[in-house]
Amino acid sequence: MFSAIDKIAEEQSVRGYYMQKLSKKTEHFTDSVIRRMTRIAYQYDSINLSQGFPDFAPPEMLLKRLGETADMLDVHQYSITFGDPEFRRALAEKQSRFMGMDIDPDTEITVTCGSTEAMMSSVLTVADPGDKVIIFSPFYENYGADTILSGAEPIYVPLVPPDFHFDPEVLEDAFRQHPKAMILCNPSNPTGKVFTREELEIIADLAIKYDTYVITDEVYEHIVYEPYKHTYIASLPGMRERTLSCSSLSKTYSITGWRIGYVIAPPEITECVRKVHDFLTVGAPHPLQEAVIPGLLAGPEYYKGLVDLYTHKRDIFLKGLDDLGLNHTDPQGAYYVLMDVSEFGYENDLEFCEDLTRLVGVAAVPGSSFFREPVNHLIRFHFAKQDSTLYAALNRLESIRKKMPYRK
Ligand code: GLN
Repeated sequence: MFSAIDKIAEEQSVRGYYMQKLSKKTEHFTDSVIRRMTRIAYQYDSINLSQGFPDFAPPEMLLKRLGETADMLDVHQYSITFGDPEFRRALAEKQSRFMGMDIDPDTEITVTCGSTEAMMSSVLTVADPGDKVIIFSPFYENYGADTILSGAEPIYVPLVPPDFHFDPEVLEDAFRQHPKAMILCNPSNPTGKVFTREELEIIADLAIKYDTYVITDEVYEHIVYEPYKHTYIASLPGMRERTLSCSSLSKTYSITGWRIGYVIAPPEITECVRKVHDFLTVGAPHPLQEAVIPGLLAGPEYYKGLVDLYTHKRDIFLKGLDDLGLNHTDPQGAYYVLMDVSEFGYENDLEFCEDLTRLVGVAAVPGSSFFREPVNHLIRFHFAKQDSTLYAALNRLESIRKKMPYRK
């Protein structure tokens, strides 16, 4: 038996009526191409050097504590919405040491579901619909979506290859449009650029001059190669007040699936970030906050070990590409490399990456998903993989010219 509502629905569909449209916001960005490439990699059973995450185990100290959480009754329930107190204390102690400033765990930290939520909460906290947000291009694709979901409008400023410097004049032009915020990824994904202190001072001067907030993405803060040094922009004079420092434990402790990130900001800003965070997700996974504490308490040797590990992987991968005569960037930090694929003659880099996955068995991310400019000749690999995986990928890449001959 049909109810009146069913009948109306039936009539509408027969007569071709349509339901109301979904939100306009969702029309202005696609799903993540990075994460789409991971699904394509699985589909073709290829070696996944697209979405950046390790295929090796997190440190033993974390896994041990994770096992112990099974018997801790309280951690299986919500933590305090803005983060487990013991976790925040350990994080404040570690970040105070690295950032060179005293961070109060009670008033300046919000623990989030990955830096993805840290940044979304930060942009929502700072920007109103119609506000402008400066983003360097190339950029990690979440920033565009974060801005659009907040109703704000991105202003893109190019990082100019091959060294990905910015032109201070062009940057100041963007600041003249009175943006509410600037998003800064340092070390940068996908370029591997580590901003120098001098560059950060230029950005800081402009942020202060034009009264703009800076929202950072510093998830690669501990993956910086010699002789480069990472400077936290929040540590520059006058910047702590206007910086929302976002990061995560994903890359530092090889736990991208645990989804633990955070925002560090002055108390007045943190109060608002916490409100946004509370209604977005309530809290990050409690047992996993507990399990990562031993990592936060680790000494400097842990971070030295991490740099050594990734320096070794970078060297293996870049030498492999060099031996194959494939041109690439030389990352100063993070674990990505952009490879020039002009020689293959593809007009569309997404198509190139699909063919590479299918025909050669190695997955990469099309460069166009990072650039505002019409760039189609670059693809991004990551090298956060076991040495054997990297060698296997290089081995497959040996046949790239045979399997993907030049297209006219
Ligand atoms: N930062 C990683 C990358 O660029 C992905 C992180 C994610 O998918 N959340 O590949």
